[in-house]
Amino acid sequence: MTDVPYDEWRARAAGLTPHTGLHIGGAFTDAAAATPVISPRDGLAIAHVASAGPAEVDAAVAAARRAFDTGPWPRLSPAERKAALLRWADLAERDRDTLALLISLEMGKPITEAHGIELRALLGCLRWYAEVADKQLDEAPRTGGSSLALVTREPAGVVAAVVPWNFPLTMAAWKVAPALAAGCTVVLKPAEESPLSALHLAALAAEAGLPPGVFNVVNGPGEIAGRALGEHPGVDVLAFTGSTEVGRHFLRYAAGSNLKRVWLELGGKSPNIILPDAPDLNAAADTAAWGIFFNQGEMCTAPSRLLVHRSVAERVVERITARAASLRVGDPLDPATEMGPLVSAGHHARVLSHVATAKADGARLRAGGEAREGRYLAPTVFDRVTPSMAVAREEIFGPVLAVLEFDEVDEAVALANDTDYGLAAAVWTSDLSTAHRVSRALRAGTVWVNCYEEGDMSVPFGGVKLSGHGRDKSLHALDKYTDLKTTWIEL
Ligand code: NAP
Ligand code: MG
Repeated sequence: MTDVPYDEWRARAAGLTPHTGLHIGGAFTDAAAATPVISPRDGLAIAHVASAGPAEVDAAVAAARRAFDTGPWPRLSPAERKAALLRWADLAERDRDTLALLISLEMGKPITEAHGIELRALLGCLRWYAEVADKQLDEAPRTGGSSLALVTREPAGVVAAVVPWNFPLTMAAWKVAPALAAGCTVVLKPAEESPLSALHLAALAAEAGLPPGVFNVVNGPGEIAGRALGEHPGVDVLAFTGSTEVGRHFLRYAAGSNLKRVWLELGGKSPNIILPDAPDLNAAADTAAWGIFFNQGEMCTAPSRLLVHRSVAERVVERITARAASLRVGDPLDPATEMGPLVSAGHHARVLSHVATAKADGARLRAGGEAREGRYLAPTVFDRVTPSMAVAREEIFGPVLAVLEFDEVDEAVALANDTDYGLAAAVWTSDLSTAHRVSRALRAGTVWVNCYEEGDMSVPFGGVKLSGHGRDKSLHALDKYTDLKTTWIEL
């Protein structure tokens, strides 16, 4: 994907001057407070960004409100909105290297994955919803001869999007692109760890000619800027991706303010069931390893619980541990790196404490477990895990796999569903009937059969239970950002 060599990425990182203001009403502006952005590569500050308090959040919501209530954006033809979003995507493609570098520096994702997977997702999402903008139809139900009823989709208003750091631009685009395509205006609050890529995207929105106030970015601590958005009476829709704990806060903010609609995409503890008749056990093991170590395990859908049939468990675990030992962990700017550092010192310490708890609970450490210098962690595998152990129940959000064994298919399904979460699940089998029966029984927003993490913009993404509700991606995401309006006309 990227032919730029390691030295060149380092030189570009040294020469980088990222945007550091808040982006409000189409321009960058300062705030009373500033906060450092620390790179997990080396623990050093890459930049100091303006940090929004309630006053700056007010200004951003006011700009989005004006752009929605009296500005051109919701009143443009859908084809004009499409053209603007396509220009934005073209500029993001022009600046692909810069965006990838910012992501890699701010949150530690390997540059190859930032440049490949994340930028592909961003560009694909912007272009998909751009194309959707002018291809939606409204309804005219058959109401009888003397009346005409129209059911139209109206943009819902000002959308606040609050997102995490693990896929800074993908998570933002999954909310921003359908909201803008629908005719809404947006205030985005990135995670404190990853504001720089979002600010660059905002600069490109202005360059693409999105009218002032249509897309605003406010950085700032969740407890201040995120909360101010959650409680703001000028926000109509709050679209959140993050932890279950913070998701609960947003429901309270909405209940205590204007009952804004809240959409939640939350955490997971996804089960990956390998049956002995998997079409290719090696492929199943390799995919299990890739799934949990990809993006440092900082994945809401990570297959963090491997449920493997006792008869093939040792063979599968051996292959996964061999893969864990061979993974290249290191500087995310090295194109050969497969796993970078964890996002922050605090998160690193949290993941290590989960490792310590798993050991104390009696799980057997098969690979990794030790911290490496800086914020790095060796890919870690525990087997002999029992369902009540914390390592089998809590979202760790790091490269830590829990392996549980079973004897019967029904036992595997019961184990898989024995969780508060319901984001994703997988089953590996050659038997068509088993595949259907198990995938039907698994309570999750997505079930993969003989694969993991596969998808497309055309399919919805989201969870059930404590993994949230609502769906990102696909045409269904437009439901979040539109209201149905009925117009009844007596003829
Ligand atoms: P997080 O702590 O919940 O934070 C997410 C966002 O909420 C950040 O922008 C954060 O701001 C903000 N926030 C924090 N506390 C807040 C508060 N009291 N009020 C309002 N906003 C607040 O999650 P994270 O650590 O960034 O990301 C990891 C979590 O996200 C995991 O649980 C993961 O499973 C989940 N996730 C889910 C999906 C999905 O689609 N289902 C995708 C990716 C990640 P600050 O950064 O400034 O604190
Ligand atoms: Mg945070």
